[in-house]
Parts: sequence; C-alpha cells; structure tokens
Amino acid sequence: MSYNPKNIFAKILRGEIPAHKVYEDEHTLAFMDVMPQSDGHTLVIPKVFAETVFDLSPDALKNLIGVTQHIATAAKTAFAADGVTLMQFNGAAAGQTVPHVHFHIIPRYTGKSLQAHGRSMADNALLAQHAEQLRAALNTP
Ligand code: AMP
Repeated sequence: MSYNPKNIFAKILRGEIPAHKVYEDEHTLAFMDVMPQSDGHTLVIPKVFAETVFDLSPDALKNLIGVTQHIATAAKTAFAADGVTLMQFNGAAAGQTVPHVHFHIIPRYTGKSLQAHGRSMADNALLAQHAEQLRAALNTP
C-alpha cells in the first residue's frame, strides 16, 4: 500500500499540528502519546515517510531502534519505572492505527496493568509535564 501523507504523524512532522516533543535529530522525532497507556508513554518515528518497518531501509531501522533504546533508557529514569515495554505494529491487522512507522515506549510498574490502546486522551498539562521530565532526563532543551 502507498504511504498516506495525510496521516497524523506526517502532519506532526510537517509542523501542521502540535506535539509534545521530547527529542529530535536529523532522522528521528519523539513525542508524547496523547492517549498514553501508562504515564510517560512516548512515540519514536523516523522522518522518512514510511508506513511500516518493511518500508524502511535496514540502516533507517537500525537508527530508529537505536534512538528508541536511548529514549527508553531516559524514560525509565524520568518516570522511575520498574520496566519498559517497547511495542511496534505493522498493518491494521497487527493493531497499527496510524500508518507511519513508530515505536511505543511505555514505562511499566510492578503490579500495574496497561490502559487500553489509543482509548482516552490525557490532560494536555500533564503531557507537557511528562515531556519536560523526559527532556530533562535526556538532557535536551
Ligand atoms: P498504533 O496503534 O501503534 O498505530 O499507535 C498509534 C498511537 O498514536 C496511539 O497510541 C495513539 O494514542 C497515538 N496518537 C494518535 N494521535 C496522536 C497525536 N496527535 N499525537 C500523539 N500521539 C497520537
């Protein structure tokens, strides 16, 4: 299937809609998930317009997982998590709802189950606070 440039992450990349950004480099952008499954739920996307991992070059995928590891490490500290779940879906049949490839970073706590996937919007001020916490742990302005 061809890439749909109207998807919400493409709009974030083009600056057409806002996001609580926590990290950006030449190839990658990371921002808070607006419907977090846990406090600190963060998304990492490549800047190249690709729908799934199958549309990425091996080098682009290596870069994406490397940045994901870097941010997940900071998220574990920033949110004092006991563990971190990484998730990544390819295609609607696999549960992908936004057709731009991304990794989920979800801080986890012993005995606490996840909120439903993409179900309820978080408070904007809380997302801003979480983004600030994560930026501080990442040491980014
Ligand atoms: P997936 O189902 O793996 O495609 O995940 C898409 C994720 O994007 C879900 O967890 C949504 O909560 C999240 N999401 C949807 N719209 C936005 C948005 N505008 N900003 C940040 N996260 C979003």
